[in-house]
Amino acid sequence: KASVMDGDNVDYEEMEDSLEKSKAKSALEALLEERKKLPIYPYRDELLKAVDEHQVLVIVGETGSGKTTQIPQYLHEAGYTKRGMIACTQPRRVAAMSVAARVSQEMGVKLGHEVGYSIRFEDCTSEKTIVKYMTDGMLLREFLGEPDLASYSVVMVDEAHERTLSTDILFGLVKDISRFRPDLKLLISSATLDAEKFSDYFDSAPIFKIPGRRYPVEINFTKAPEADYLDAAIVTSLQIHVTQPPGDILVFLTGQEEIETAEEILKHRTRGLGTKIAELMICPIYANLPTELQAKIFEPTPEGARKVVLATNIAETSLTIDGIKYVIDPGFCKMKSYNPRTGMESLLITPISKASAMQRAGRSGRTGPGKCFRLYTAYNFHNDLDDNTVPEIQRTNLANVVLMLKSLGIHDLLHFDFMDPPPAEALLKALELLFALSALNKLGELTKVGRRMAEFPLDPMLSKMIVASEKYTCSEDIISIAAMLSVGNSIFYRPKDKQVHADNARLNFHTGNVGDHIALLKVYNSWKETNYSTQWCYENYIQVRSMKRARDIRDQLAGLLERVEIELTSNSSDVDGIKKSITSGFFPHSARLQKNGSYRTVKHPQTVHIHPSSGLAQVLPRWVVYHELVLTTKEYMRQITELKPDWLVEIAPHYYQLKDVEDSVSKKMPRGEGRA
Ligand code: ADP
Ligand code: MG
Repeated sequence: KASVMDGDNVDYEEMEDSLEKSKAKSALEALLEERKKLPIYPYRDELLKAVDEHQVLVIVGETGSGKTTQIPQYLHEAGYTKRGMIACTQPRRVAAMSVAARVSQEMGVKLGHEVGYSIRFEDCTSEKTIVKYMTDGMLLREFLGEPDLASYSVVMVDEAHERTLSTDILFGLVKDISRFRPDLKLLISSATLDAEKFSDYFDSAPIFKIPGRRYPVEINFTKAPEADYLDAAIVTSLQIHVTQPPGDILVFLTGQEEIETAEEILKHRTRGLGTKIAELMICPIYANLPTELQAKIFEPTPEGARKVVLATNIAETSLTIDGIKYVIDPGFCKMKSYNPRTGMESLLITPISKASAMQRAGRSGRTGPGKCFRLYTAYNFHNDLDDNTVPEIQRTNLANVVLMLKSLGIHDLLHFDFMDPPPAEALLKALELLFALSALNKLGELTKVGRRMAEFPLDPMLSKMIVASEKYTCSEDIISIAAMLSVGNSIFYRPKDKQVHADNARLNFHTGNVGDHIALLKVYNSWKETNYSTQWCYENYIQVRSMKRARDIRDQLAGLLERVEIELTSNSSDVDGIKKSITSGFFPHSARLQKNGSYRTVKHPQTVHIHPSSGLAQVLPRWVVYHELVLTTKEYMRQITELKPDWLVEIAPHYYQLKDVEDSVSKKMPRGEGRA
């Protein structure tokens, strides 16, 4: 074949092609150089030898040493993928996505081909996939279809120190299958040094330590407690920017709202700094940040500018951002807390643990000496912070996990091999709820309803709502509602300069005081009628991105309905049928109006309020059922629908008795009377 430059017959296409190829090649080479600089690289062969010799290995190494991105590649290079896939679990969806993207670049393949990720409602893998990053929750679900994980040759439970509920359950399950699958390699990797606990649990598995490179970090405390940590964090960022040598800043905040507020204030205040001060690039990162924007935090900071990353806990150990020299740690995170007595769960802004504070500080000393500014006093640190974060299994609702374990045929939950057992009270509460939802029978065995519910990757109350829709012939409507609820609170937006317009647009969907669930259904159906128009979303102050996500989720729920053989039927005109389906799942979340305008939950009485964003906030129906509780200044119910009290007895006769729903009549009677 003639060479490219042969005479007149210059084949430009081929030339461009080879040019593209060489560009890609040099990019790959550059990435390979970077890979070789990671702290883990000198230990590559030793690590592979250890994996070869032991079935279970505990791996410990500082954040940023290369555990997550490199180990699966080393194993692939060593041939492990010939026998099956390599799974690497992450507690956070963003981490799974971002790391998979990075590794696919390093391997020079398209994301979703050889390297992919799997997170709830989003499967970015294919037949070609050999390295699969996934949330710990998704691997847990894979046990349902493949109890011995036969498609995998290696399972790496990464970020084990996070001790999420799913990771803790995975520990028990993978430990169990490793006994009858001697060919399965198990890696437990963690960023903290308390690896002995993991080793003990996995029958004294050897510990492989990757020595980190760590530079000294100067720790600064405030002299007095800060009244407003968000403001203090913003002021500190600006002070660093104006007075300190180059280096990026990482600020730990508790959630999306806080990050958005901080972003806005920072943008506003940097505008006032004048042109003499270098540019400050503001990069937010949190779980629901749209994928396109997530990559921004990894882009190198332009010469002369400075980057400030506003992150949730995700940047504590899950994501490594190069170039951070300053860390601002207000000392808080959002944490789930659960009251097993009432069965109520809420997200609370809570002080972090000493271990977390240490991890956060460490993020500034990865590439050179760093500085950490703690927005709390040294006294607070030593006296008020717990040593370690309590594992999630000990502070959460277990209904979901219990349903899953029951579907896996694990009945004796009290004797499940937990690394740290959950409180017995919480286990009983979960069994009680599943029984009330008819997922379990009196003997604690899975029922047909329960088996169907377990197919849905949703909270049991949501799954029950869906399964119950068969009876009320409104499954189409209910999965739309479930999908909209699963998207979270990002459907409507409210621009500062157009709040009145936005509120009016929103109220349109609430005509007739239909309640928040039906309003969500109306939003979905109206959008569908416009053939999923983006313009329509703009006109109605609705986030098109959230709607597309809802449509995706809905499609998947429709597929699952088919799997459990529930027909797709719609009954939009029968609003009561839809409300009864909702009540069938959410009856434990019912509340009754009090004289002073607050509400009282029916079981385990507690005072709650309608969230101001609800369409029923001004209506105050006598009886409501709510989707969730959020605690801000008060305990608020979010996403509310009105119900008729006799539905409670009709739908959940084993849970509610007439006396629970009789309007204050029983109170006037002498004790004992009026009970069934
Ligand atoms: P560990 O798991 O030990 O904390 P990682 O394997 O996550 O370490 O990170 C190794 C390196 O890869 C870090 O320098 C990090 O900056 C880089 N890296 C990881 N993910 C990405 C990404 N999405 N984009 C760019 N760089 C990344
Ligand atoms: Mg990692």
